[in-house]
Amino acid sequence: MDTDRLTDLLVALHEGLPRLGPGNAESTLRALYLCEDLPAAPDVLDIGCGVGVQTLVLASAIDGRIIATDLFGQFLAELNRAAAALGLEGRIQTRQADMHDLPFADGSFDLIWSEGAAYVMGFDQALSGWRRLGRPGGYLVVSELSWFRPDPPSEIKEFWDLNYPAMRGVDANLAAARALGWMPVANFHLPAEAWTRDYYGPLRGRLPDFREVHAGDPDAQAVADMTEQEMDIMDRYSDVCGYEFYVLRRTESSQGQGITSH
Ligand code: SAH
Repeated sequence: MDTDRLTDLLVALHEGLPRLGPGNAESTLRALYLCEDLPAAPDVLDIGCGVGVQTLVLASAIDGRIIATDLFGQFLAELNRAAAALGLEGRIQTRQADMHDLPFADGSFDLIWSEGAAYVMGFDQALSGWRRLGRPGGYLVVSELSWFRPDPPSEIKEFWDLNYPAMRGVDANLAAARALGWMPVANFHLPAEAWTRDYYGPLRGRLPDFREVHAGDPDAQAVADMTEQEMDIMDRYSDVCGYEFYVLRRTESSQGQGITSH
């Protein structure tokens, strides 16, 4: 199965779900309140916003304008509908854009936000590629699949080695952030229920219908199998790995300026 086909099937599997990745409002707010000294009305960029559950939480919690970007227009359309229903449409502007090449001037944002999406580029590539968009002293809040322990059991290690080989431990990600011109302000684990209840709950409910609609399509059945395997394994190993929220602040020292990633 090529990447485009896999992406199409994953988009179809997630269409209409309340969220496209693990997360919850409490964690979004916890990370937001760790960003001290934000301007009264910060300029915010949400990258890989999906249907924008976290965008809506941010817009309810702070004044200022949020530009919410995603590669897929149908997710942005859902966000626009939800924002209008909550009366937040004046504060959230959606923009279809590829996170590899974001169409904004340097230094445009006080706060860059990305939940469960930086993996598309890779943590280091995202941190170095997005740095120019931040203002001096501005924040980047990013959640990233990370090892919580140095000695993961072989079953889960093999699963992620296959599915996300770039995954690293929390300390290694913090060190990478420092080297790439971001000072770690705080970090915390996304709680297990943000996976099992808030993300996997609705996803699990969707799978039988997805299988039926795509009966006879081996690629779609493989995507459903893969999803079930991930849910099963993550339910059992939530203490070993999961999403880590990294609250990072742009440093202006020369440290890291010479480091580029490819
Ligand atoms: N932040 C949301 C969505 C996370 S899922 C949440 O937490 O629910 C990852 C998101 O990245 C999806 O919405 C997907 O459409 C988006 N995405 C994938 N590739 C992308 C790219 N190249 N540029 C921008 N967004 C991308």
